[in-house]
Amino acid sequence: MLVVGGGHNGLVAACYLARAGADVTVLEQADRLGGGSRTEEVVPGHRFDLHSAAHNIINATDIAAELRLADAGLEYLEMDPFSVAVFRNGTVVRFHRDVERTVASIAEVDADEARRYAAWIRGATPVVTAMRSGIDGRRGPGRLAAAAVALARNGGPMGLAGLLLSPYGKLLAQRFGSDLVRAPVSAFAAHASAAPDAPGSAVFALWQAFYHQVGQWHAVGGAQGLADALARRLTSLGGRWRTGAAVRRIHRRGARVSGIELESGERLGADAVLSAVDPGVALLELLDPPLDGPDAAALRAVTRSNAVQMVVHVATDALPSYPGGRPGDWNGLQSYVDSVAGLADGFAQARAGRLPDDPVPTYAFTPSALDPTLAPPGRHTVYLACPSAPFRLRGGWAGQAAGFADRMIATVEARAPGFTASITARSVRTPEDMADELRWPGAHPMHADISLDQLGPFRPTRALARHRTPVAGLVVAGAGVAPVGGIAGVSGRTAARVLLRSLG
Ligand SMILES: Cc1cc2nc3c(=O)[nH]c(=O)nc-3n(C[C@H](O)[C@H](O)[C@H](O)COP(=O)(O)OP(=O)(O)OC[C@H]3O[C@@H](n4cnc5c(N)ncnc54)[C@H](O)[C@@H]3O)c2cc1C
Repeated sequence: MLVVGGGHNGLVAACYLARAGADVTVLEQADRLGGGSRTEEVVPGHRFDLHSAAHNIINATDIAAELRLADAGLEYLEMDPFSVAVFRNGTVVRFHRDVERTVASIAEVDADEARRYAAWIRGATPVVTAMRSGIDGRRGPGRLAAAAVALARNGGPMGLAGLLLSPYGKLLAQRFGSDLVRAPVSAFAAHASAAPDAPGSAVFALWQAFYHQVGQWHAVGGAQGLADALARRLTSLGGRWRTGAAVRRIHRRGARVSGIELESGERLGADAVLSAVDPGVALLELLDPPLDGPDAAALRAVTRSNAVQMVVHVATDALPSYPGGRPGDWNGLQSYVDSVAGLADGFAQARAGRLPDDPVPTYAFTPSALDPTLAPPGRHTVYLACPSAPFRLRGGWAGQAAGFADRMIATVEARAPGFTASITARSVRTPEDMADELRWPGAHPMHADISLDQLGPFRPTRALARHRTPVAGLVVAGAGVAPVGGIAGVSGRTAARVLLRSLG
């Protein structure tokens, strides 16, 4: 069996296939495994996550336990508080896994908003519980009970439907009195690549309750720790992987998959292929002859926003110094979004192919504060990202990347005076870099938009969400296939199970 793509989903799938006794090889085009779960020494002595920094959904599943990844060297540290909102006026609000601690933190600034946040999480929790069992493929009484509570707490079927169909910006405007909570909750929701005004995006703001349930997690040594542990487990199960092995074609003979061809011209025969790259690329570009008919039309129509992520890796000799900072503030994500309007504007600009205005919607992770393996003593790794950077930029990225990085750094400086002076080196990673290196169409971090119509049983299309394709022996997985994107692994696991079942 062949697996196309050595991101975490491809590796998870390969481990499940090998565990079931299959002879499996993963083919990865890059020089290293991991895809969106890679860590590199971008600056000498400083190791930075190139993309994903927090592995949360996978930590809500039993994949790591089933594959015994801890024995293969995977260790996660909790980032608590999971998010700290640092406002330009010096206000700091901390979002801990513990709801009461979070409510107390908000109450230090505004007691009414704190009460509203508690009510928000109370309504969101059963929705998230029901969604989590859907993501994990669990059915049964637990899920039904959560759905019943979600209905009861959110105004019955019509109330819940109205909630889920809303844009999160609109919903948060109704539920909160100011940007004190709205802005940080929006900033977190935006990581799904969803704008505050996107219909059906409320689910991402409700997802805030997920972090109170599961927490936020950093892999020791960086995101690569997950990919490396999966590769070690795969080897121990008898599976293989090859890097520098770019797949050019997936061949079929009649209605059955027959093998693949690498860009080098090498051909490998196989009666089963699991694709863990973008499903549109797999079935419309690599598959020969490609998918056709209504299934192809539905796949071609899958949407992918132009607003994606841009990253600046900054090596420093100090953590960003927030005047209102307290110990622990550097454990998790640090959000620099002052208003929902500013965030919405950033997305609107990116959709139009322009760079967001100042202050650039920016967030930071400072993982060296938690994990000393990442930087020399006394030095730090500051990962800055903008969740609303355009993939296609008017005038091109080449002449604008450095200036945009300066503006992201200025956004931090405005909240952490002295940050710029603490910088010893920096490296800019544009959406174009990600698209080129990972072969992500449109540099989309989730392969395709995560919108209500492209989530769960609709991801990427109703037909392909079951992982099967019209070609026998060919299944699809990856961030763009059910249930969801990000570091979850569920797509890879389910696709492996579907393939094993189809082969009897
Ligand atoms: C800046 C940024 C920050 C992010 N932060 C987070 C986060 O904190 N938490 C989170 O959960 N998610 C985050 N994400 C999203 C997450 O990284 C991705 O959704 C996830 O990595 C997708 O995993 P995957 O295994 O499905 O696909 P990928 O990681 O895309 O892996 C696919 C692999 O296939 C390879 N490939 C492509 N074409 C071919 C071919 N023709 N032949 C062979 N190999 C091929 C690619 O090189 C790649 O290694 C972030 C993304 C970005 C860009």
